[in-house]
Amino acid sequence: MSVSQPVRHALTQFEVAADRLGLDAGNRRRLLACDRILIVSVPTVMDDGRLHVFTGYRVQHNNTLGPTKGGVRYHPDVTLEEVTSLAMLMTWKCALMGLPYGGAKGAIPCDPRAMSRGELERMTRRYTTEIFLFIGPDVDIPAPDMGTDEQIMAWIMDTYSMQRGVTVPGVVTGKPLLLGGSLGRREATGHGVYYVAVEAAKLLGLTLEGARVAIQGYGNVGRTVAQQLKREGCRIVAVTGSRGGRYQPDGLDLDRLLSHVAEGGRLEECPVGDRITNAELFGLPCDILVPAAVGGQVTAANADRIRARILAEGANAPTTPEADAILRDRGVLVIPDILANAGGVTVSYFEWVQDLQFYFWTEGEIQQRLREIMRQAFRRVHAMAEKEKTDLRTAALMISVKRVVDGQRLRGLYP
Ligand code: NAD
Repeated sequence: MSVSQPVRHALTQFEVAADRLGLDAGNRRRLLACDRILIVSVPTVMDDGRLHVFTGYRVQHNNTLGPTKGGVRYHPDVTLEEVTSLAMLMTWKCALMGLPYGGAKGAIPCDPRAMSRGELERMTRRYTTEIFLFIGPDVDIPAPDMGTDEQIMAWIMDTYSMQRGVTVPGVVTGKPLLLGGSLGRREATGHGVYYVAVEAAKLLGLTLEGARVAIQGYGNVGRTVAQQLKREGCRIVAVTGSRGGRYQPDGLDLDRLLSHVAEGGRLEECPVGDRITNAELFGLPCDILVPAAVGGQVTAANADRIRARILAEGANAPTTPEADAILRDRGVLVIPDILANAGGVTVSYFEWVQDLQFYFWTEGEIQQRLREIMRQAFRRVHAMAEKEKTDLRTAALMISVKRVVDGQRLRGLYP
């Protein structure tokens, strides 16, 4: 079987950490195997009366440290292999952050942009029904991912609740506020990237006032990081979307960019600064680079052109292992995805805790707790990297994998 790029990267990174931890073959096999892989059929009546049978996946990678947790992706190209590697990534991310969760991921290969609201609702409700026995607040807790949003989480929550006969807000996170969602969830990933970027800058003695920041991806994550770092006095010199973006060495006018995009304009056509391509973005002079778009963007083909001192991975798996090695040799501090973008799952955890208690926190409490958890995680990873004389990615994975292995050892093997 040919192994796709994201899976290859996840396995390569795991093996590096496992080697350093001296894990035996049995432990490795156990950690790489998934607890459960569900493949369900999702028959859905389309608006034209035709019956379409979608395929749904839910992969629960490892529940040693608690119920599994992870998003549901609606995308035409999503594969079971990719979902499996993303579920594993969630196990490491939750373990690293000290959250009482294992990792999971779900998906339906479909094009949500080409579907009506009614079609999406019917497909989502049938998918939820098919996986009903395997989800729940103490079993597996879905969340939004690419192509899914608060509304889809509301349908999952409602379908699950109807089957149980009681309202169960804690079955999903990323819900609308009115149904038990959390303040600060939407911006959480961007805020988390910002908190660890600040820690990394301190570590390198980089003054944020006037520091140059380039961001790939001007969506939820990219926009929040841009706003937060600008507030710290950084110059956001470049942002790009899927068709390129804008560059201005003395700092882009973010308000103009935002209103241009909000009015339906294309980012790369906004009349501020100069137009740039995504390829050009990676060679720009800057201090902090934030890939916050899709995976596999920083490769052996562009890593030697990167001039940033800090690369904070907002996206999942934006850097290939080959690029990682080049960046390490060139002294670029890479803050790995499982640390840098863990703000999202951390506030999802806050949402779940609030749902279980039926008691909700203020935005200030959420921000303060998120900042503390992100800072502590950064410091833990940095201390491990120093001790092991390795990079932050390997250090982060070593911490995560060790936690899961220790958990397995303490629980023992049933029966
Ligand atoms: P989003 O859909 O809001 O924004 C994505 C942005 O990336 C858009 O600006 C889009 O134009 C751009 N983009 C898409 N393809 C591109 C390409 N090939 N080249 C350049 N730009 C491209 O998504 P988001 O929620 O901001 O998530 C961004 C990344 O962060 C994703 O990789 C996601 O998996 C990861 N992430 C998000 C969260 C979260 O809570 N939102 C949590 C963890 C990780």
